[in-house]
Amino acid sequence: MRLIDADALKTELEKLRDGWNYYGGEYESAMYQAYDISVDTVDEQPTVQPQRKKGRWINKFGKEQGYDIAGIKTWYIQILCDKCGFIKTAIEGHTGQYHYCPNCGAEMEVKE
Ligand SMILES: [Zn+2]
Repeated sequence: MRLIDADALKTELEKLRDGWNYYGGEYESAMYQAYDISVDTVDEQPTVQPQRKKGRWINKFGKEQGYDIAGIKTWYIQILCDKCGFIKTAIEGHTGQYHYCPNCGAEMEVKE
C-alpha cells in the first residue's frame, strides 16, 4: 500500500479543474462535476495507520559506571537499534523506557 496526502491530492484536482475554466461552457461544467465526484471519492476512502517497523535494542558495548542526574552511582550501557544502527546511551535496567528508536522510528520490542 502506498500512503499519500489526500489534502494535497484534492489541491491538485482543484488546479486541474480550474485549468479548464479558460474554455468555459460545457468543459467547465464537466470539470466541476468530475472534480466533485473525485473529491467525494477521496473523502470516502478509509483512513489507515501507517505500519511501524519493529526493532529491538541490542546491548552494544557492555556497561560503564557513572552517575545519574540525582548523583546516584549507576551503570550505563550503549544500546543499538537493530534496524538502523543508531546508538543510544541508557541506564542499565531502564532500556524499556525507550519504546521507539529516535532515529528511524522503529517500535522497539521491550522486555525487562
Ligand atoms: Zn533505528
